[in-house]
Amino acid sequence: MFLSGNRSRHLDFVPYPFLAGTCETDVIRSTTRHQRAPRPPARAVPTLGQLLHQPYWLWLHCDACRHRVAVALVPFVIRWGANASSDMLRTHVRCAVCGRRGASLQHPSWGDAESGWEVFPVA
Ligand SMILES: [Zn+2]
Repeated sequence: MFLSGNRSRHLDFVPYPFLAGTCETDVIRSTTRHQRAPRPPARAVPTLGQLLHQPYWLWLHCDACRHRVAVALVPFVIRWGANASSDMLRTHVRCAVCGRRGASLQHPSWGDAESGWEVFPVA
């Protein structure tokens, strides 16, 4: 006859073969990870000049508080030049709501052939 206290003591013990199996799986996984093909090179970050096309403005999204603001691109091209990386814009802006530095860039939406690009929001 088993006592419940005795049984629970046995369940706390993990037999060696289970540990060995886990270790072999980990070795196989880690080996497989190293045999994957190398990642393709990261895409080049566009310059401000490359982003300067219709409709000539972008949404800046704060990744912290989701606040967004529409900005014209031309003032940034004038300030930093057309050959400046768009990362200048991503890293140098500051959110007016939460104060966090940095933003994501999003091109305005294309409606359709009749409506065209999303209209620059006028406050
Ligand atoms: Zn924010």
